[in-house]
Amino acid sequence: MLSGHQDLPDGIGMARLAWTRLPTADGAGTEGAVPASPSVAGDELFAGNVESLDYEVFENYAYREEQAQRSKFWVPYYIMLKWLFSLLIGVGTGLAAIFINLAVENFSGWKYAATFAIIQHSYFVGFLVYIVFNLALVFSSVYIVTNFAPAAAGSGIPEIKGYLNGVDTHGILLFRTLVGKIFGSIGSVGGGLALGKEGPLVHTGACIASLLGQGGSAKYHLSSRWVRIFESDRDRRDLVTCGCAAGVAAAFRAPVGGVLFALEEVTSWWRSHLMWRVFFTSAVVAVVVQSAMNWCKSGKCGHFGSGGFIIWEISGGQEDYSYQELLPMTIIGVVGGLLGALFNQLTLYITKWRRTYLHKKGKRVKIFEACLISLITSTISFVLPLMRKCSPCPRLETNSGIECPRPPGTDGNFVNFYCSKDNEYNDLATIFFNTQDDAIRNLFSAKTFHEYSAQSLITFLVMFYSLAVVTFGTAVPAGQFIPGIMIGSTYGRLVGMFVVKFYKKLNVEEGTYALLGAASFLGGSMRMTVSLCVIMVEITNNLKLLPLIMLVLLISKAVGDFFNEGLYEVQAQLRGIPLLDSRPKQVMRNMSSKDACKNQKVVSLPRVSRIVDIISVLRSNKHNGFPVVDRGQNGESLVIGLILRSHLLVLLQSKADFQNSPFPCGPGILNRHNTSDFVKPASSKGKSIDDIHLTEDELGLYLDLAPFLNPSPYIVPEDMSLAKVYNLFRQLGLRHIFVVPRPSRVVGLITRQDLLLEENANNVTTELQSTSV
Ligand code: ATP
Ligand code: MG
Repeated sequence: MLSGHQDLPDGIGMARLAWTRLPTADGAGTEGAVPASPSVAGDELFAGNVESLDYEVFENYAYREEQAQRSKFWVPYYIMLKWLFSLLIGVGTGLAAIFINLAVENFSGWKYAATFAIIQHSYFVGFLVYIVFNLALVFSSVYIVTNFAPAAAGSGIPEIKGYLNGVDTHGILLFRTLVGKIFGSIGSVGGGLALGKEGPLVHTGACIASLLGQGGSAKYHLSSRWVRIFESDRDRRDLVTCGCAAGVAAAFRAPVGGVLFALEEVTSWWRSHLMWRVFFTSAVVAVVVQSAMNWCKSGKCGHFGSGGFIIWEISGGQEDYSYQELLPMTIIGVVGGLLGALFNQLTLYITKWRRTYLHKKGKRVKIFEACLISLITSTISFVLPLMRKCSPCPRLETNSGIECPRPPGTDGNFVNFYCSKDNEYNDLATIFFNTQDDAIRNLFSAKTFHEYSAQSLITFLVMFYSLAVVTFGTAVPAGQFIPGIMIGSTYGRLVGMFVVKFYKKLNVEEGTYALLGAASFLGGSMRMTVSLCVIMVEITNNLKLLPLIMLVLLISKAVGDFFNEGLYEVQAQLRGIPLLDSRPKQVMRNMSSKDACKNQKVVSLPRVSRIVDIISVLRSNKHNGFPVVDRGQNGESLVIGLILRSHLLVLLQSKADFQNSPFPCGPGILNRHNTSDFVKPASSKGKSIDDIHLTEDELGLYLDLAPFLNPSPYIVPEDMSLAKVYNLFRQLGLRHIFVVPRPSRVVGLITRQDLLLEENANNVTTELQSTSV
């Protein structure tokens, strides 16, 4: 048997695998030149563009040396920089949100202003202008996404959720994705599609956080050595969490909702320290956004400021509620759960179909699809209101008297569209032919009764629901919060209308029911509870409705959970993002770690490996981690650590550590690298074996892996239950665990006491003192 570097035959360029003997789970050992054959399940799960993150600190020599050499100012600098970045994430995300809102509101304002000016003369030309305006915006969005930033499509929340669960999807946190997301959102939302900008803002916040965390973008020369100190995925994970919270805080002007969203929906690991920082970032966002709003109120921002930025204050709404209303509210909760679950299921089917038949055909099909959906959306939103009769404007109890009519996009309650008289409004146009923010403001409005006919609400519900399902999954940045709120508030208002009719004596308001409907649909689709509840309260500024919102959310979530998983989980599965739940599956309790890797042939490397052998190992499989084996004093096999593929590629590309001798290297080699050499930018593909170009001579040299490997990977005994392994893996955010036979001896035991170092030190001092006395 060949084992270790000593026995490797010479022969430059001869491609073959390293020969090692490693104890495998069944204790028999694996030997021979075996190309790794990862399990099919593993391959299917990791569908090509995802790989795991290394949340574990890779304690190789370079890391240890750097730790030892760090000055006493390093820790304060590190902490200060984290707080500074938290601040910058807040400022950056706030500014991005303002920019997106400003652009969307202005584009929409211009669009409606032009269309309304033209329809005074010709409805047909007005229709054409409206369609072309929307088409141009949607085209710009889909063009940016397909040609420049493919990872910017969709909401990005499933991918970020995956990132914070330990799965890195290629491309999601790159600078180009950030730019694509911002400009793509402007096009898709401004173009009137049935989608929102909130999910993309969460993604935007995460991108800003990740780019700051890795010290900028080296590719675009926007990087500095001084801020490149967050080298581990773990540090960056914390910043990305801040970014997600900032996104929600900016999208809804809901800072506490942002913190809770990060905690409830996106993160898999949470610490009290992180809570502080996330809270700080959200507070910064709130200040930035509020300052911009104040500035824009004076009319300096065009159409933005009069109608813009989500906040639908329900002042003067329903003050209290009667127990008789619990029944209709329960109905809203149940309907929300049903429609939400149906939405998840339909979008799942359509996305699957799209991926299999449509999107494989290339960019052009994606562009064509988005443009077609834009045409359909524009036609429906223009033509359907034309079929409705206008109603006279109701007198409002406001100081200004009648508030009717106003053109869309100007913060008006009623839209005069295809009406014969000036003081009439078209109820369907008020919600369909309007900006999303204004439509929601109108649906939530508590000022008037019967503003909408049941027919208009049902028409809108059916059409918008269908459009939202079809639009989901197109190649544009898209959030599902706003469509969800629009769908929910429509049927909520519908229920409200019946309640008003049947419970005449009660002080019921349709707007309140619209709000509850919105909460119920979001709960039924996204399955969030606490964060949604707080977001709804924050955006409506009405604390009195809190118990009702809680009630409908609980019901809708329970009903939705009965049918399927939440929207983000379903989408994550579909995108091949293998999320690890917080708990192991029941069946794992009856399995051992050995069962999980039954048919595996472990691919490992000897400590001093020949370059040609390393290359053939890397080419023969897609594994990212390899055990490294050495010979003990008595010639026995000894596992000395774990080496990562990405680290091997760095070493192969730099060539600085190649040696002629097949024996372990001397100490000088350590100074040639520092830890930052091995850091991979988040979500980048990183180096590939195809990037390595070596001469024949170099292939015959050797590389000592000992200084670069992680000497202390996590190890579990082969008979540990898989449920326990799962918990260890999930809770520590690991990437690789070695499964080994039972050890033959114990060198010590660590207990709580051994980990309380300060107290131990005190005890030792006391003991020493007492002995000296
Ligand atoms: P990740 O995909 O999480 O980033 P990885 O790429 O190192 O980690 P994969 O190669 O994707 O791991 O794992 C696929 C399958 O291959 C798993 O069943 C795993 O246990 C197995 N596997 C991983 N590394 C090795 C190895 N060095 N030798 C043999 N089998 C391995
Ligand atoms: Mg893999």
